[in-house]
Amino acid sequence: MKKRNRAIRLVAAAAMTVASVAPVTAVPGPAQAAVPDVAKSYAGLMYRSLTADATMAQLRTTLATQQADLKRRNTDAAKAQRASVAAQKRLATATTAHAAVFEKLKSAERALTDAKNALARQSKQKPRNNAAIARAKRAVTAATTVRDTRRTRLHQAAAELRAAKKVAGTTTTAVINALAAAGKTEAAIEQTEKRIATAGTAAGYAAQAAAISASVVDQVRPVFTVADTTTVYGITVHKNVAFAFKRLIDDAKADGIALSGGGFRTKERQIELRTINGCPDVWTAPASSCRVPTAIPGRSLHEIGLAVDVTSGGKTLTRKSKAFTWMTAHAAEYGFVNLPSEAWHWSITGG
Ligand SMILES: [Zn+2]
Repeated sequence: MKKRNRAIRLVAAAAMTVASVAPVTAVPGPAQAAVPDVAKSYAGLMYRSLTADATMAQLRTTLATQQADLKRRNTDAAKAQRASVAAQKRLATATTAHAAVFEKLKSAERALTDAKNALARQSKQKPRNNAAIARAKRAVTAATTVRDTRRTRLHQAAAELRAAKKVAGTTTTAVINALAAAGKTEAAIEQTEKRIATAGTAAGYAAQAAAISASVVDQVRPVFTVADTTTVYGITVHKNVAFAFKRLIDDAKADGIALSGGGFRTKERQIELRTINGCPDVWTAPASSCRVPTAIPGRSLHEIGLAVDVTSGGKTLTRKSKAFTWMTAHAAEYGFVNLPSEAWHWSITGG
């Protein structure tokens, strides 16, 4: 199979919505309520197998996006931290400046009190010294001016201190938020890495499906109804193998192998075939005793939609056909196994 085509198809599979898989694995309606859980598990495993590579590709894409996201968030956090450090510095400066201006105001207030006391003392002096009183008054006026200037400067320093506190608070919050966002992304990366590390492989899921395929046959047969089937490119198969079988046909086609065939047939048709194919009798003679090997009615996997007689270009498969070579190389990836005595007969157990 060409690798490139396969990759494209896998991506397409990943893009498939749950809805498009629904006919195969969805909660059954009343008509198919009897489909055993093992058959659904089988379908689920085959679905996971056939989408494992696409799932992995998607996980890797997610991881790359998350890593880029983390890089950006770490840059944001570093920037926020630098802004916070600058804001703390500004706050320290503003606090110191405010304290210094406050002390200067206190000192100006003390000087004004002293000047006022001096004026009061001078005013009580006898005899009255007008020149000294005038000097004392000027001293009071000058001290008042200094006090007023420093009071204004204290208001300005207080405003700067309030602004610096506000920015310090905002930048601290920004750092907390940036670190939280980075932490959240780190946790998401850990989750994705865990999913990548524990993701099953296509071969692994297919092997699990193969391991329960005999149970699927045993449990499906007694409860099977025609309602449990669906058609894939005109071939009727059990719904729980439909997704894998469609992928098999599609992938073969992409490799230049046109496949078709006959899947489900009724027990009545099986009885007819026993006669048509020259079996010694309908009910007991072994399949191999017929002119064309034909299973005893009630034993064929065709009767439950779990086997397909494969054709290519309108011809039944032979061991020499290209289609047989392709099937031998790839059918197991889709859960189909050949019955060695019949090159055309492929089923989930090889039976
Ligand atoms: Zn067959």
